[in-house]
Amino acid sequence: MNFLRVGFVVSLLAAAFSVSASEEGQGDEAGQLRGIIRNLMDDNSAFAKTHKADYYKPFTDGQHPRATVVTCSDSRVHTHAFDQTPDGDLFMVRNIGNQISTAEGSVEYGVHHLHTPLLIIVGHSACGAIKAARGDFSKESPAIKRELVTIKLPARNPKNDDAAEILRGIDGNVNNQVAYALKKFSHEVAEGKLTVIGAIYDFRNDMQQGQGRLVITNVNGSTDSGNILASLMKINGNGMKMDRKSSDKQTAKH
Ligand SMILES: [Zn+2]
Repeated sequence: MNFLRVGFVVSLLAAAFSVSASEEGQGDEAGQLRGIIRNLMDDNSAFAKTHKADYYKPFTDGQHPRATVVTCSDSRVHTHAFDQTPDGDLFMVRNIGNQISTAEGSVEYGVHHLHTPLLIIVGHSACGAIKAARGDFSKESPAIKRELVTIKLPARNPKNDDAAEILRGIDGNVNNQVAYALKKFSHEVAEGKLTVIGAIYDFRNDMQQGQGRLVITNVNGSTDSGNILASLMKINGNGMKMDRKSSDKQTAKH
């Protein structure tokens, strides 16, 4: 690969997508698109300028993530909410509805090849996939239908309003994914090589635990809050591999 040529192409792209202030003000679609791309390239440029070789050193020759994370593609959910330095640290698998079955190979790769001691399923408040799965999605495309039909929701409780039912669905889906993982990776879990955690990133404070909290709702199939705490203490007591960074990086917020 000719790296000089690549650099030249990047510069050309930057020039092509540069937008004058008046162009942005016009609000036309092409202008907006160029603005978005320019923002991305400006942010990447700032990132490249402020991150020197030392920053990449720990992971340039390989990755040793501490956790495989299965979370939703939702743009409101990002790793900085629960890991300030996710680079090389979290093996991320994302899809609508934070499911294992629709990205099974990727999850397997994290557990079997990268040997992460932790598999975390992260659902989130106001998940559109859960809302869609609750309704009629028969008119969606085959590809989207395939990724919605796999979401199994708890039976509706007529006493609940819509918001409560959606939250129940989000929680139920996370529990289903944990159950799926426990079955799939039963060997690793039995040997103590893998802990499966279910959590909900609540950017709306729907769970009344504090806005922005990552609320742990399930540890190895246990959903009782007392048992969750006990299970988490047990993990710490067993000296789970948290050596790469300080223990205050743990995701537990209870
Ligand atoms: Zn979602």
